Amino acid sequence: MKRGPIVAIDGPSGAGKSTVAKQLAERLGYRYIDTGAMYRGIGWLARGKGVPFRACDSLDALLKSASLFFEERNGKARLIVNGTDVTDLIRKPEMGMVASDISAIEPVRRWLSALQRKLGEQGNAVLEGRDMGTVVFPDADHKFFLTASIKERAKRRAEQLGDKGDAVELDTVMEEVSRRDWNDSNRAIAPLRKADDAVEIDTTSMTISEVVERLIREIRAGGGKIEVISQES
Ligand code: C5P
Repeated sequence: MKRGPIVAIDGPSGAGKSTVAKQLAERLGYRYIDTGAMYRGIGWLARGKGVPFRACDSLDALLKSASLFFEERNGKARLIVNGTDVTDLIRKPEMGMVASDISAIEPVRRWLSALQRKLGEQGNAVLEGRDMGTVVFPDADHKFFLTASIKERAKRRAEQLGDKGDAVELDTVMEEVSRRDWNDSNRAIAPLRKADDAVEIDTTSMTISEVVERLIREIRAGGGKIEVISQES
């Protein structure tokens, strides 16, 4: 079966990927798949069960009986892990680092990459993460790598956390973002890096809608079969 188009968006934390990917998916009429949320969900599960992150065998056993899926409730995508709605729980400030630590573990990456391939197998999807264009969908129709200066990324993260009611110091966030960058870029399996054929966009001085418009321009210029179904809202 021939699948529909896939747009892969990767980049470091705080580069604006989630908001951009969500809006782009809306404009294209595609599904949006937040793969970072999936790593956060498994981090939440392992931590709750007290499974040490380095214990590959125990993690393997945990994953064998794990269930993780996105469900639409009141028009919003919710992440359900082993029957619990973890959508808000995984957004706590400490969960980024928890996800980053567990994402370096081989059985976790194997399990989640397989699930991500399954979610995207029919295409018509925008997938966002760290290894979408390099490992999970190396044959994606369009690949983007979004970056921004470390200062700007920390500012965006702090704003995001502030919106959720978690007041945080900018310096603390900057340190967390740098540590996560290092972790994600230096792990042995599927490290964060730009795919050779991805279009890199530095979003430091761009607004969200400017980035979305730029992606749409790139997609149109790339030709192929993607149609933009809605105009800027
Ligand atoms: O994007 P988000 O900040 O929610 O991702 C949380 C963590 O999950 C990242 O720091 C990264 O370690 C991990 N991740 C990953 N591969 C992906 C998506 C996220 O390793 N495709």
